[in-house]
Amino acid sequence: MKIAIDIDEVVVKFVERYLEVAKSRGYKSVLYEDVFTYNLWKVLEIEKKVMFDIMEEYNLMGYYKDVIFVEGAQKGVRFLRDNYDIYFITSRPKSISKVTRDLIFNEFGVLGDRVIFSGDVLGGAKNKDEICRELGIKVIIEDSEDESLGYAKNGLRVLLLDKPWNQSVKHENVCRCRDWGEILERVEVLDGHDSSEPEVKE
Ligand SMILES: [Mg+2]
Repeated sequence: MKIAIDIDEVVVKFVERYLEVAKSRGYKSVLYEDVFTYNLWKVLEIEKKVMFDIMEEYNLMGYYKDVIFVEGAQKGVRFLRDNYDIYFITSRPKSISKVTRDLIFNEFGVLGDRVIFSGDVLGGAKNKDEICRELGIKVIIEDSEDESLGYAKNGLRVLLLDKPWNQSVKHENVCRCRDWGEILERVEVLDGHDSSEPEVKE
């Protein structure tokens, strides 16, 4: 079974330190639990362009190199790597593609050709569900509310890592997982279903 894994906020943390950088630059102070959408410019009440400027600051501070992993992600990804066919799909900007590929290789031993950039977030070339279709990926682990619904509507099974910003997501193809432990449990269930005959509804 092929599985795609989003990187930011699924494997490595991003939002908390991003909010700190924004606050240190004089923008609105927002608590992590009050992040109601992953569209952070809405949360910070700033222009979208300013959000990318803050991201530049974030990169300059070296936060993309000095990562903090999401709880359970390292063990979880290693388990998936050993038992399934995994890809990483991210909308990170191409400017940090080398850092990102190095991170994935150094931490998980997964080669760079398995780390796919869906396009610069400023002007993406391809969206993530097109990429999944081309690669035959049926399951994706995500946190973004918009991306998750996009995948789900296109028939992908989404394992949604529970976050303050994705509370509104509800779809029959989305399974909310509290943590990486639950993600792995759900993957095994999906894998079981994957190899059996499809269920016939009465
Ligand atoms: Mg993410």
